[in-house]
Amino acid sequence: MSQTLVLNATYEPLGVVSERRALILVLNERATSVEDSSRILNYARGSITLPAVIKLNKFVKIPYRHAVPLSRRAIFARDNNRCVYCGVTATSIDHVIPRSRGGGHNWENVVSACHKCNHAKADRTLKDLGWRLRHTPREPVGAAWRILGTGKPDRIWIPYLKPFGVEAMGAASA
Ligand SMILES: [Zn+2]
Repeated sequence: MSQTLVLNATYEPLGVVSERRALILVLNERATSVEDSSRILNYARGSITLPAVIKLNKFVKIPYRHAVPLSRRAIFARDNNRCVYCGVTATSIDHVIPRSRGGGHNWENVVSACHKCNHAKADRTLKDLGWRLRHTPREPVGAAWRILGTGKPDRIWIPYLKPFGVEAMGAASA
């Protein structure tokens, strides 16, 4: 089932819901469709275009910031789809400090890497190899990253996510 991006009244991305749920929010006047999808829902007395992006009519206060989910997709987007060691197109995920040597599965230790570097590095540390990271891996900040971690973003969503912290959304949605 396709999903709809939900924006706060301030246009800040909040999350994703099913298209049907989004349509109910619009029909109940709790939200307004700001971008239609190409999908149409047929019912007994007619048809209606399903929304791709909706905006809540009333501002919703978010009590706390959720941590950004650590996913392969989000790591690739953060690292711009590049190998953090040599800069070519990344094809895999690597733990900077290998898990076998106590490295954690977290934003500071998980990076995107090419197959060649990943294979060459194996379970050695950067110090062992004399390698350097092209940038220090950190947890990304910004509302749009929460959306990115939840699944495949729709291309229509990208202009709504970009102002909220995601630079590499175009590449991430390919
Ligand atoms: Zn590489």
